[in-house]
Amino acid sequence: MTIYAHPADTITNCGGTLARHADAGDEVVALILTHGGRIHANKYAEEWRRDNPDPSITGASLDEIIENKKGELRRAASIIGIGEVITFDLDDNFAAVSEDVVDRIAFELARQQPDVVIMDYPLNQSWNNPHTVATMMAMAGLGRASQALLNLDGAADFHVKQVFFTSLPIVIGDSLSLGGQRNDVYVDITDVVGRKVAAMDEFVSQGYAGLFSRKLIESNNGEHGRIAGVNFAEAFCRLNAETHTTLPVTKAAMEQDVLTRHVAYSELNLRQMFPLT
Ligand SMILES: [Zn+2]
Repeated sequence: MTIYAHPADTITNCGGTLARHADAGDEVVALILTHGGRIHANKYAEEWRRDNPDPSITGASLDEIIENKKGELRRAASIIGIGEVITFDLDDNFAAVSEDVVDRIAFELARQQPDVVIMDYPLNQSWNNPHTVATMMAMAGLGRASQALLNLDGAADFHVKQVFFTSLPIVIGDSLSLGGQRNDVYVDITDVVGRKVAAMDEFVSQGYAGLFSRKLIESNNGEHGRIAGVNFAEAFCRLNAETHTTLPVTKAAMEQDVLTRHVAYSELNLRQMFPLT
């Protein structure tokens, strides 16, 4: 289950990883807190800059803008394999934690019982950022769901197995730099990267289609891929420490050839593979 502020956040942060989970038969649910009507409203704002703006675009109401964004989200979710999309339809730019939203998140967590929750890294909490507030509410929702009591709430206590944060503002791949804060899990999305491109291409009204989707994936997922030793990767930072029965060494670490990996992870050319139409 993902919990993000805005419609496209789920796709840009972890769409490839979700596609792999969907392919593996896992149930994928996206909870999106806002309607997305005012965030990246490029289609409408750019039209106003033209010499002769098209009144069918500049005259769109908030409801029409939201409906258009929801259509983009529905199509993107279907490409990725997200089985259920829940939208709370809050305003895009909430500035503070709301107890009511925390309750609604706790209710969805109790209903969905996800093994894993993915959300944005909380960043700097003194700086107004709806992604930070979304994560603060999601974490509070997890806390609230964990204290549910069947006697009182009609729901039993729910405890998530692991939380993965995305968009940690650090890409450095070793644990000795910058106080040790780093992404500590990478998911190789190379096999499904075309679906991430296609899903981002659906967000036409944000200007994400075409050049931007390819640029973001080449640069961001390409850079995470460089750290991970694969063509394209998504990066995560775990909330909880993990318990194993022996020291874990990943299959990727066992198979990687350090001498040639920089050649191997540079072989794909996104713009050639998925040309603009
Ligand atoms: Zn966002």
